[in-house]
Amino acid sequence: MTQPTAPIELAGTRDHFGGDPVAVDARLVAALEAVAVVDTTVQGTADASRDWWPIAMHWALAGEVPRRAGAVARPASTAQVSAIAKLCNDAAVPLTVAGGRSGVCGASVPAFGGVILDTTALQGIVSVDETSGIVEVLPGTFGPDLETELRAEYGLTVGHFPQSFDIATVGGWVACRGAGQYSTRYGKIEQMVVGLEVVLADGTVIRTGGGPAAAQGPDLNQLFLGSEGTLGIVTKVWLRAHPVPPAERRAAYGFDSFTAGLEACRQIVRRGATPAVLRLYDAAESQRGQGGDGTRCVMLVLDEGDPSIIDAVMTVVAEVVMDLGAQHLGNELVEAWMHHRNDTSALQALTRKGFVVDTMEIAAPWSALGTIFTNVRSAMMAVPHARAATCHLSHSYLDGACLYFTFAATPPAGAIESTYVALWDAGQRAVLADGGNLSHHHGVGINRSRFVPEALGAAHGILVSVKHALDPKGILNPAKLALPSPFGTVAWP
Ligand SMILES: Cc1cc2nc3c(=O)[nH]c(=O)nc-3n(C[C@H](O)[C@H](O)[C@H](O)COP(=O)(O)OP(=O)(O)OC[C@H]3O[C@@H](n4cnc5c(N)ncnc54)[C@H](O)[C@@H]3O)c2cc1C
Repeated sequence: MTQPTAPIELAGTRDHFGGDPVAVDARLVAALEAVAVVDTTVQGTADASRDWWPIAMHWALAGEVPRRAGAVARPASTAQVSAIAKLCNDAAVPLTVAGGRSGVCGASVPAFGGVILDTTALQGIVSVDETSGIVEVLPGTFGPDLETELRAEYGLTVGHFPQSFDIATVGGWVACRGAGQYSTRYGKIEQMVVGLEVVLADGTVIRTGGGPAAAQGPDLNQLFLGSEGTLGIVTKVWLRAHPVPPAERRAAYGFDSFTAGLEACRQIVRRGATPAVLRLYDAAESQRGQGGDGTRCVMLVLDEGDPSIIDAVMTVVAEVVMDLGAQHLGNELVEAWMHHRNDTSALQALTRKGFVVDTMEIAAPWSALGTIFTNVRSAMMAVPHARAATCHLSHSYLDGACLYFTFAATPPAGAIESTYVALWDAGQRAVLADGGNLSHHHGVGINRSRFVPEALGAAHGILVSVKHALDPKGILNPAKLALPSPFGTVAWP
């Protein structure tokens, strides 16, 4: 079975967060062991208690995990998940779900200790409805395992290819409202989900969705999509699947400014063309990795599917970009991107050198994107020790797009955490002030919880009410999404 990939070496197992964790006593451990495989070793619980949150990589090198859980339970069936939830609920012990642990915001970190429910024994395709193109899959299934079997056995693809494809699970995609690199053609994960099986905090098993469309009240799939393990544990997912595309075309263009490239992306999707990949890099990122010369902003385009549809899409793209004065660049730039697009080694290497590095992805209407592009980079660069703040557009919609900022700083060793917090405060507040949202696909976790009330306004109260209704004892992934928790508040930042 595929296992999570460690973000960086762990030099010790001390808790970074202050305060005492919620203990998992011997009676609860014995009861859990009667249900599923359980690990209570210091190393096993430490490894399972961290994800790819960049600041926690610095902690790991210093011998710390954010907070170590008391036990890790690995259920192999929905019945076992239900039994584990019931035991934790009865004991009022926090229960945090973890999948691939590739989250970048600390979402699967057990903020108060307690039990981690590791989904990685729940792997594989359960069934495929080939006529309708619907695949039923277990939540701990990693991207390559899903796609390889789907393509080889059924000639189908889900079309969800996040950069973390190799290290993330289907359950994590759903819980964080993930986006793949081909999202302009296939949509985000929330457009791909047909239905869910979910275990609630008290062990009740429910099924949501199920049809291609419905008018039977609000869409309950969407209640759990993006809930980051705070409302229920997803134990099965039904996903839409497409025929494996018979054809593919690529193109690359250069723009004199990011604003001109933004306008091109807007016009392309407003005209109804949805190339699977439509990416635009600012001058700095273009030069860093996409063949730019320091002034030019590179746009990469790739479409796949039925040849007639691809022809139409690529014709619209070419017409729009040429009208806006772009230069045609060689298709080898797309080839190069395909090659290195999932390479994550830079993050570890820079962290080891003491750099503070992270990314912030947001979405906003087309009318706000130009201002956000300018103001976020300025706000980040005004933070002491900031070295770089760059941006690319990675996902486009009829009404707007996702901007993905990458930032780096070189603070002295004693200022790593404060610099990280200041960069996030500066960037995220600039986005919210200019009409963008909190996150496009990485989610909230611990890192962004402090911004949630500001981002959702009075509507956050609805989320709090739903949490109280579904999880009255507050055991599921407590304190995430700025939800009130009986265990206190997370001791960070
Ligand atoms: C290098 C890198 C690149 C990335 N690129 C992308 C990208 O292109 N697109 C993208 O969308 N994301 C990306 N991410 C972020 C991350 O991979 C996604 O958020 C992913 O969906 C998390 O899946 P996971 O299985 O690792 O979940 P985890 O990290 O284990 O968990 C994330 C959250 O989901 C909850 N959860 C997990 N499984 C379940 C379940 N079965 N039921 C209920 N809750 C559950 C957890 O409690 C937690 O709150 C990237 C991360 C890295 C490190």
